[in-house]
This record gives sequence, structure tokens and C-alpha cells, in this order.
Amino acid sequence: MHTTNSVREQIRLEIRQLSAYHVADPGDAIKLDAMENPYQWDSALTEEWLQYLSAASLNRYPDPAACEVQQELRTVMQIPSEMDVILGNGSDELIQMLIQAMNRPGQVLLAPEPSFVMYALLAKAVGMQYAGVPLREDDFSLYMPAILETVKKHQPALVFIANPNNPTGNAFAAEDLETILAHTAGAVVIDEAYTPFTDATFMPRLDEYPNLLVMRTVSKLGLAGLRLGLLAGSPAILKELEKIRLPYNINVLTQLSAVFALRHYTVFEEQTRRIRADRAVLFNQLEALEGVRVWPSETNFILLRVANAEAIFNGLRERGVLIKCLHGSHPFLDNCLRITVGTPQENKSFLDAFTSLLQGT
Ligand SMILES: *Cc1c(COP(=O)(O)O)cnc(C)c1O
Repeated sequence: MHTTNSVREQIRLEIRQLSAYHVADPGDAIKLDAMENPYQWDSALTEEWLQYLSAASLNRYPDPAACEVQQELRTVMQIPSEMDVILGNGSDELIQMLIQAMNRPGQVLLAPEPSFVMYALLAKAVGMQYAGVPLREDDFSLYMPAILETVKKHQPALVFIANPNNPTGNAFAAEDLETILAHTAGAVVIDEAYTPFTDATFMPRLDEYPNLLVMRTVSKLGLAGLRLGLLAGSPAILKELEKIRLPYNINVLTQLSAVFALRHYTVFEEQTRRIRADRAVLFNQLEALEGVRVWPSETNFILLRVANAEAIFNGLRERGVLIKCLHGSHPFLDNCLRITVGTPQENKSFLDAFTSLLQGT
């Protein structure tokens, strides 16, 4: 007898044991949970974009190499000309490609913890060994003795370091990253998703380290809906990865929209500058509150700890503000919450509700 269960059992055990990446349904809540840029385009820019899009040929496959998009990205992200670039349907797809290419029996992926959950999730999905090395518990800096010991023991094929880190918000010391690069034979991917909100970058230093790859995305900049990420690094490595990239992974509408948007890069620079300034305002307001621990941030979100994170999270939800509750996701994140910096009005709505909940609980 054939049953759906007999088919289900054909699915690899490591996949059946995973939980799907959960995204909360925002309803009409103020959405401060996913590090999105809160600003919309003005109507003149939207009009111009729609005009630009009308040239799209949806009956044709997209440019497989997305040359124009690459060119615009090289300019705005100042990618060294001697380095190759590979594009992904979001940087999530690039993480998946790297893991797929480097998953050999016995090979290990190393990442600090807590960090971006997709590194571990995508490794586990293909059965690649994953070594999560705890950060320092107090300030979430890299605990170098443990990292170097794990590097020595496992000789990881792949290291992922989000810099600045999600969900902790801090950037790591450049010397620590240099030490990891010097001690690792495998690829070290520095995931620079939060570039618009920090001055830290290894992009200009790609030629110093043959094993360094720098990953970027346009998501946090203000184009999360496009799904477009990039990996920059030495042609010798990227030429191999290019072989497993699905030929048309960047669709026609994304290619046109990205080219259009990146030619108006100053719009996004202005928005992200404003978000950086509003982050400082929100940080100071949160730090002044009794019973709240706030960590400094070089991203567009703020990590904080309260006495009862779940009660605050649910209370905010009832008051129409959606944030991220990290309680239970890692032992170092007990009673922690993550708030994306929104518009000044959104930040105020959050802060008012948050303050009244703190006083009531
Ligand atoms: C948001 C985020 C990403 C995801 O980027 P996409 O391009 O939207 O897939 C990657 N890395 C980190 C650290 C992030 O926080």
C-alpha cells in the first residue's frame, strides 16, 4: 500500500527533524520584527520605476549573469575590480550554495552563537556538521580561545561570521576577524548584511586574504522585497560556485528594479542615515528606562533584556506592535527582545506601549 507517509519517510531524516523558518503574520501591526527599512518611495520615484519596469519582457528568460545589476552593485558597494561577484536570490541562497559546494563527509561549518539562524539551519538540511562556538556572554564579542581551539580541532571548510552580528547588533573587533582569517584554511565568509548601518567592512581588504569572501544584501538597505544578495571574492573560488548557481536565479523584475533603485542610491543613503540617527535616539530612550538592559548596536535593530520578555512581547502584540522575542532561542538570550528601528512615529508607538507595559508588569 502506498501512503503519503511512505513517501514522507523517503525524505531525509535531518530534514524531517528540522523546524521550518517561522515568520509571524503581522496583520496590520506596526512591523518592527524583521529589520526592514520602513520608508516607502515618494510618488514621483514610484512613477518613474513603473515606467522603467514597463520595458520588462516577461516571456523571455532574464539575463543569466544579470550583468547590469552586477555593474551597479560593483559601483555602490565599491567591490574591488579584480574580484568576482556572484548573485543570489537573497543572501540566503548564497549561504545555501556555499554549503552545498563545501559539504563533504567529515567537513565542518563553524559559526559563532548566537548568530544568524540560517547558517545552522541550512547546514543541518544537507547533513553538514555544524560547530556553533559561543560568543562571550556579557558583551557578545568573539571568544577567541574557543574559536581558535575549534578551528584547530575541526579545520572547518566554511566559517560564517555576521559582522555586525544578528541578533546581538554588535560589530566584532577587526583584529579578531583577522586572526580567524589567518588561522583558517577554509573559506571565511564575512556576512555584511548591515553595511548601511556601520562603518565596519572587509570589502576593501579582499586581496589581503585569499580565503576571505564578503557577502552583502540589498535587503536591509531598503529592498528586502527584491531578494538580491551578493558574494564577492577571488575568481578562483567564485568560478567554482558559479557552476551550481541556478542559471536564472535573479528574475526579470528584480533585475530591472535593482538597476533602477541602485541608480537612485542616494535615496537609500538618506533613509539609512536617518535610521542610524533614530537608532541613537531610541537607544538613549531605552537606556534611561528602569529594568531594561540595552546593548549598543551597529545595525538597524536593538537588542534588549527585560524581566519577562514573553509578557512584554505579547502585550506589545495586543497593542498592535510586532517585535521579535528571542527568549528560548539561545541560553544567552534569556528574556531578550529585538526591535527593528522604524520611523520616528513607529518608534514612539513602540516606546509608549513598552514603557506602560514595563510599569504594569
Ligand atoms: C537579514 C540577514 C540576512 C538575509 O539576507 P537576505 O539577502 O534577505 O536573504 C543575511 N545575513 C544576516 C546576518 C541577516 O541579518
